[in-house]
Parts: sequence; C-alpha cells; structure tokens
Amino acid sequence: MRTQVGIVGAGPAGLLLSHLLHLEGIESIVVETHTRRHVEERIRAGVLEQGTVDLLNQSGVGGRMRREGLIHHGIELRFNRRGHRIDLFELTGGRAITVYGQHEVVKDLIDARLQADGQILFSVDQVSVHGFDGKSPSIRLRSAGEPLEIVCDFIGGCDGFHGVCRPSIPADALRNYEKVYPFGWLGILAEARPASEELVYSNHERGFALLSMRSPVLSRVYLQCRPDEELEEWPDDRIWEELQLRFQTDEGFRLNEGRVVQKGVTAMRSFVAEPMQYGRLYLAGDAAHIVPPTGAKGLNLAAADVRILSRAMANWYRNRDGGLLERYSQLCLRRVWRAQHFSWWMTSMMHRPDGGSEFDHRRQLAELDNVTTSRAAATNLAENYAGLPFEVI
Ligand SMILES: Cc1cc2nc3c(=O)[nH]c(=O)nc-3n(C[C@H](O)[C@H](O)[C@H](O)COP(=O)(O)OP(=O)(O)OC[C@H]3O[C@@H](n4cnc5c(N)ncnc54)[C@H](O)[C@@H]3O)c2cc1C
Repeated sequence: MRTQVGIVGAGPAGLLLSHLLHLEGIESIVVETHTRRHVEERIRAGVLEQGTVDLLNQSGVGGRMRREGLIHHGIELRFNRRGHRIDLFELTGGRAITVYGQHEVVKDLIDARLQADGQILFSVDQVSVHGFDGKSPSIRLRSAGEPLEIVCDFIGGCDGFHGVCRPSIPADALRNYEKVYPFGWLGILAEARPASEELVYSNHERGFALLSMRSPVLSRVYLQCRPDEELEEWPDDRIWEELQLRFQTDEGFRLNEGRVVQKGVTAMRSFVAEPMQYGRLYLAGDAAHIVPPTGAKGLNLAAADVRILSRAMANWYRNRDGGLLERYSQLCLRRVWRAQHFSWWMTSMMHRPDGGSEFDHRRQLAELDNVTTSRAAATNLAENYAGLPFEVI
C-alpha cells in the first residue's frame, strides 16, 4: 500500500492528525492494534481546553461536543474543609473548559474519517516502522493474519507511551526526561449525579481527591492511592467512604453515590522525549510526552502537537517548504514544558507527599491560600488550566 502519511495509533493524536491532514488534501492511513470498539470505549481524559475546543469546532468535528459537552467557567479548590472557586472565565478574559470524554472525541473523529472514506486499519499486530532516516519510510504489520507494508512520505508516531515508534529511534538520538511520582489515582466512573456543577480539587490530609463528571448523570471521581494499589482492596463501599471523607466541608457536603461502572488505577509520571522527530518519523501526543493528569493536559497537548504537525506537512506538500517541519519539535516543546511545569505544580500542591511531613502539608495550605486570595496567583492558575493560546503559525 502507498499513502502520503502513515500514522501509527488511533488515539486522539493519530485520528486528529489524519483528520486535519485530510482537510489539507493530504492522504493518510491509520493503523491501530486494538479494535474500534476498544478505542471508542476507553475511558481516559475528559477536560478540553478552550484551544482544543476551538480546533475541533474549526475542523468540523465539534457538533456533538457543542450539544453534549458541559462548558465550565470555573473550578473549585477545596482545603481545610472549605471550597474556593477559581473563576477561569473572568480571570482569563472569557476562556473556559469543556467537559467531554476523550472517548467521545475519538468516536467523533473515527466517524469523520470513515465518512470521508479515510482508512483506519484496526486490530493489526506486529507493527514496526522502517526507513524513516531516508526518503521512503514504511510501516510493516499484520492485518487479518496477512503481512502488509505501507510505504509513505512521513510517519506520524501517535502510538502512545508504550508504542513502537519512540523505541525505534536510535537511543543516542533521543534524550528522555522523566519523573515518576510515588502515588497514583484510583478512578471510578459512577452512575451518580455529580454533587457539584464544576470540578472540585480537594487537598485533604488523607490524600488528594478530584470530583469530575462525564455527563449530568455520570460522575468521574478519583482518589490519591499508591501507584501499585490493588483494586481488590478497594470494594465500592470503601471507595465511597474514603471519598466522602476527603471531600468533607463544614457545610456538610456529600457526594451522590451510585453504581460504579468502571474502576482503575493510573500511575503518575512526567516524561518528555527530545527531540520529537527523527528523520521522517514525527512523534506526537503521549508517544513523546506524559504529564500527571492533575493539570488535565495530556489530551490537549496531543491536539496541540498534531495541529502544528498537520500545518507543517501541508506547507511541505503545498510549497515544498520544510521549514516548519524542521521546527516542529522546537515549536511543540515550548508548550510541552509549560504544561509539564503546570502539571507538576498542581500535582505537588494537591497531593499528600509520600511520607510527607506536617511541614509539607502546611506549605501546601499556604500555597493554596495564596492561589485563592491573590488575583495574580489565581490568574496564573486560570490561564494555564484553561489553556495557553496556540502559537500563531
Ligand atoms: C490509563 C490512562 C488514563 C488517563 N486518564 C487521564 C485523565 O483522567 N485525565 C487526563 O487529563 N488525562 C488522562 N490520561 C492522559 C490522556 O488520556 C492522554 O494524554 C491521551 O490519550 C493522549 O493521546 P494519544 O493519542 O497521544 O495517545 P493514546 O490515547 O495512548 O493513543 C495511542 C494509540 O496507539 C495505539 N497503539 C499503541 N501501540 C501501537 C502499535 N504498536 N501499533 C499501532 N497502534 C498502537 C493504542 O492502542 C492507542 O489507541 C490518561 C492516560 C492513560 C494511559
């Protein structure tokens, strides 16, 4: 098979890249190891920055998001049994976040690609990438048991943190920066009306907790746990009991409880691979960088990367101008590191440190006091949380 851009991975990065390239008149083929159903049902991120929302709308895949997404103008920081609202909208001059599940974005993108006769090969295996240090890279795989080779001009490495693209780059050409946190998040999806209209980030002496939602009747709630926490130790009753403690307020706040329909533990890490390109292989999204989910940046960074990559490739095909492609990594990494800093900062302000001392907790409370009483500090949080504007290119 021959195409212009071969894309490894049908997560948000790979699908959005394929969609944006299509709008530029560039052909691509996406290959994915999982089934369509699996990627459409995988519950992950759910907070879209203003820039991501604008990009989905401008590229014609925002219809259902506009109907079903929940626009939030603020978030709550809770500590010392009291809530403090950060007014994102007012502090950023009119920017907001939209709560819309990543799997819904993925469904919308798959629909758009298939309606435009785009090619996505699901359930492939033995994927490998070749020849990207020359002019004719290729992706080899097995599809329905048959070997297949896709020859292309460029490869989009959008296969997530555990994919094959990044490890295929010679180790001495990449520099990895990594921080692993001594805690994780136990997350549940529950059939329960969210007890707050906006997200609640709670710093509690027993550990961090986050109340989020996927719809007016589905709560998504997380609690800080060990990175290797055994789910069997957490029957639903224990989860609710712990969550109720961590969200307590003097006004008697209670979470609405309901049937838990999904449960999982996610370890937390910060990771960046530099540069995000080698020859004609371009890494995007989690394949190149990971952030702890506290800042809600993972999916948004993936969207920002492929926005730049699609424009850079369009420039190359239209004008044979490789300038933007050459600067791809540099352009992305500035935003990536800003998001790394913000995600690390939110994480360190909200989580109980491993073996943390009373000093650490008092320091966190002082920081939260500052963020919720100083307009300058609150504005900094709001600008980063709602998302920095995209670079003009
Ligand atoms: C378990 C988990 C939970 C998360 N929860 C949150 C959250 O609550 N909040 C938040 O803000 N962010 C969260 N994130 C982060 C966010 O979901 C990611 O940043 C986002 O998915 C990045 O999109 P991506 O397309 O780069 O990567 P992915 O979504 O990982 O997509 C990569 C795709 O590549 C496919 N693939 C992998 N290897 C191959 C291969 N060899 N060949 C072909 N295809 C391959 C995978 O199956 C996958 O479909 C979570 C991430 C994970 C992993």
